[in-house]
This record gives sequence, C-alpha cells and structure tokens, in this order.
Amino acid sequence: MTTPYPIGTPGTPWGPAEKAAWLARQVKHRSYADEVQSKIDALRARFDVTEYGRLDYASESYPLLAIRSRGWREDLPIVLVTGGVHGYETSGVHGALQFVDLHAADYEGRANLLIAPCISPWAYERIHRWNPDAIDPNRSFRENSPAGESAALMRLVAPYRDRVLMHIDLHETTDTDESEFRPALAARDGKPSEPGEIPDGFYLVDDSENPQPAFQQAVIEAVAKVTHIAPADAKGEIIGSEVVAPGVIRYPLRKLGLCAGVTSAHYTTTTEVYPDSPRATPEQCNAAQAAAVCAAIDYALAHAGA
Ligand SMILES: [Zn+2]
Repeated sequence: MTTPYPIGTPGTPWGPAEKAAWLARQVKHRSYADEVQSKIDALRARFDVTEYGRLDYASESYPLLAIRSRGWREDLPIVLVTGGVHGYETSGVHGALQFVDLHAADYEGRANLLIAPCISPWAYERIHRWNPDAIDPNRSFRENSPAGESAALMRLVAPYRDRVLMHIDLHETTDTDESEFRPALAARDGKPSEPGEIPDGFYLVDDSENPQPAFQQAVIEAVAKVTHIAPADAKGEIIGSEVVAPGVIRYPLRKLGLCAGVTSAHYTTTTEVYPDSPRATPEQCNAAQAAAVCAAIDYALAHAGA
C-alpha cells in the first residue's frame, strides 16, 4: 500500500543528485526574522542575547541566537533549554520563547539560564526536519558534526559542558512524521519504509544511559495539567520504544547523537508535544513546553547535589 517516495530509487541511498532534487522541492513558508528574531529582540531589554554562530545557505544568512539570564554567576547551576533542533516543531521554538518571556525571571539568583530557542532556522522557515544538506541535526550532535546547526550549539555549550545541571530539549511529534519525514528518511537511506503510529499526546524521552525516572515523572505531572499525556500503544510502546512509566520512553542519547546528550547534565529530558491532536491548540502546545521547562528546572534545583 505504500507509494514510493517521489525522489530516488527504492533500495538505493540518495546521492548528490537526489539530495539536490529534494532541496529544489523545499519552499519557504514562514520567516525566521519576522517570527523568531523579532521575539528575541523584544527580550533584549531583560536578557542578554548573543549570536553564537551563523548559517549561510545559498543567498540566505541565519544568525543563531542564544539568550542568557542577566547577572550570570559562577556559583549558580547552569540550566540549558534548546528548541527548534527540528525547525518544523513550532512549539519547541515558541514554547522556549514563552518560557523566557513569562517564567525565566522566576529563577533569578537561583540558576544561570542559557536558552537556544531555534537551532535550525532554515528548517523553521521550510517547516522541515532536515537542514539543506538533507541532514537531521538531531542525529548529528557528535564530534566533527556534518550539520552546522549541531556544531554551532556544541561550540556554544563547550565551556559549560560539565557544569550544566539540567538540559531540556523541546520537540514535537507530528502527523507529518508518518506522512512525510519517515518515508523521506527511508528513501534517503535506501531502506524500506515501515508504517508506524503517531501517539496522541505528550511524552518525554529519558536517557537510557542515565535514567532519571523521578525527574521525568515530575515533568509529566506538570504537563498533564496543561495537555493530555500519550498512552502506550497495543504493544506497550510509543514510537517503537517501551513505555517505562506513563508518557516516558528512553533512548541512548549520545549513541544516537541527540541534542539532549550535548552536555554531561545529570538531568536531561526531551519533550514531545503532539500539535495535531484535535484536543490541543497551538497556545496549549506552547504552554505545555513552558510548563515542562519550569517543572524540569524546579525539580533539578530542588534535588541538586542529591
Ligand atoms: Zn523533533
């Protein structure tokens, strides 16, 4: 029943010609400058904003922007919030910005906050998962990364790598994962496309190499007040991984080159908001991301040194 992906030959990984054909199909749907940079600019009165890198793609140039709490103190723990590693996952970007706008001041004097709200701006504009080289930044957080998006974030956090207490990476799982991005991935790698399910609700990804179940539970409980938590499927899984607690699965973060493994933080989590649910609005998705960030910081600060 599966229609072959419109680019490439089934069973054969893409080469430069197929990647170019894929790139030619990508359309700019929205503006990073208008929707993201403008919001970051509005925060400059209250927070320190720095350009930590720049991505030059064809005729376009994207400044990569990080937001820091004012009054950064060497004696305070560092908290890292990342969004937009997958540019199409809109609430990851706007949830991070909503957290800064509405809640970051609550942590003044208690934590140094470092927020990179839109790691992949080219993909934000094209509502896509990959960068223009058909690379997924969220499999590319490794030495000599082939993705400029990932390499820039790694350079940003390198001085703090061993001093980050908590890192939360904000994502979404969408219906287009199943209809477009999984088939595109299979086609790109010359593999068969396996049909899967998209869970209806919010879930978290813990680190199988450093599981923190009580921390994940605290985040789930906070988000459940804002939006519904994804149930396990008939196999007791969410997207092919065992559900270890309500709304929680685990991945080996570093082995997979995932963003949440970019520091040696004791507490890490990856949020997965489901924006296509008939029961969720965009406002609710942003609020769910912000609630997850607050709960994660609260838990980490309360248990620091434990
Ligand atoms: Zn994602």
